[in-house]
Amino acid sequence: MSGKILIVDAVATNRIVLKVKLSAAHFDVSQATSAADALTIARAVRPDMIIVGAALPDMECVDLIAALRAAPWTGVIPIVALLSLDTPEERVNALKAGADDVITQPQEERIILARLRALLRQHHALQDMRLNAGTDYTTGFAEAQGGFARPGRITLLGAKICDAVALRTRLRSVCRHQITALQAGGPVTKTPGAPAADVFVLLISGAADDMATNERGRELMAELRSAPEARHSRIVALVPAGCKLLAASLFDMGANDVIVGDTDAAEWALRMTRQIQRKQAVDHLRTRLHDGLRAAMIDPLTGLYNRRFAMPFLRELATAKAHEAKEFTVMIADLDHFKQINDLHGHAAGDRVLCHVADLLGSGVREGDLVARIGGEEFLIIMPGADGEEARSTADRLCRRIASTAIMPSGEAGPVHITISIGVAIGRSGMAYDAAASSVDALLEEADRALYRAKARGRNTVTISARPAA
Ligand code: GH3
Ligand code: MG
Ligand code: MG
Repeated sequence: MSGKILIVDAVATNRIVLKVKLSAAHFDVSQATSAADALTIARAVRPDMIIVGAALPDMECVDLIAALRAAPWTGVIPIVALLSLDTPEERVNALKAGADDVITQPQEERIILARLRALLRQHHALQDMRLNAGTDYTTGFAEAQGGFARPGRITLLGAKICDAVALRTRLRSVCRHQITALQAGGPVTKTPGAPAADVFVLLISGAADDMATNERGRELMAELRSAPEARHSRIVALVPAGCKLLAASLFDMGANDVIVGDTDAAEWALRMTRQIQRKQAVDHLRTRLHDGLRAAMIDPLTGLYNRRFAMPFLRELATAKAHEAKEFTVMIADLDHFKQINDLHGHAAGDRVLCHVADLLGSGVREGDLVARIGGEEFLIIMPGADGEEARSTADRLCRRIASTAIMPSGEAGPVHITISIGVAIGRSGMAYDAAASSVDALLEEADRALYRAKARGRNTVTISARPAA
């Protein structure tokens, strides 16, 4: 994996040692020797990760971490604290200041690299989601700073259930999240269908770097990673002290964090909270993405599909395989004298009339038919598999249905009566893909001309194009 890493350290040898390791692992490394330098370079280079070492001339490391977190350009970048002194207090201080992880020198290279790779993977995945959801760097920053609104759900999965229960007791005293203890290797939720945890903690027990421990650990991790309920959850693994190889491979298998050996309760709480924040940020982005996709296809006034959705649907239908070739119907429905409704009752009442008509059209066709709003007071109805006869009866029924319904636009206005005119054209599927776009256009023109004739014949009526368009 490649990525840009900024190393901040005043001591040249520290920087060089780390740079050699990271360059060998194909990272693109830049360096800063002071906090001021780091802030300027980070803004210019936009690294994918910042490693903050000890001993800066102009700022305490924890203050630099906090400053990086608070700056819009660096707020979302993963920060790793490189501690010269590995004490629970130093670790907690760095995490509290906003570091995503803490490493110490000397430490086995493999596990450091696995840790960095895992952080980078998560960062890139989040950046992709931010891009797709249409949030830029700065709004990503706001989301990173936002904290979490609700306490999270943590499930401890113990290879030995007693370990999970003991850890639950410890964690309950330091964090406000809801914590469940379960046996690893079984169902990942207490009851089937219950929402999965935000964070699963896999507790692996056994002798350090023993073959059986490693194998069991990997097996449990693989099972958890493939559980459908856990697909959006974060995974933290807890491995016995000394299990460095196992830790590295669990990171590579997709663990979001791996804790090796016994850890201070305060550090546990910080790490859990960080995972829950991340999970909630991703959930938020996923919802945004989903809403964005929906908004691109749905007309916000009526809730019907829009033209952007309807056109590819129609092309798809037109190019359906030749041996399945059959007729389909395209209708364009237009409200009659709709301008008068606006003039008489106001635009807001007009909008409500449009919504009522949309409902009547939507509920008046078969499942599998598509109704879209393609213009102000113009609707497109697509009926796969419907021939001329069926099209005629459906269009007549829709016309009658709307004409006979008294629509209450609410407010002062009394019931409103409206009619529609419909132009119908019949297409045939099995077109060559290249020809589909122009054939679909021709079909829509046919329907439009038929609509025009229906208007000319006095409105509240249906006209079917005499000539099959395809
Ligand atoms: P015709 O029977 O010939 O179709 O007459 P019409 O009045 O329906 O047609 P015209 O094209 O003259 O006017 C359409 C009107 O639809 C004008 C416009 O203000 C109104 N309209 C278009 N979109 C909306 C909308 O979203 N909300 C409301 N309230 N009115 C809309
Ligand atoms: Mg009209
Ligand atoms: Mg119109």
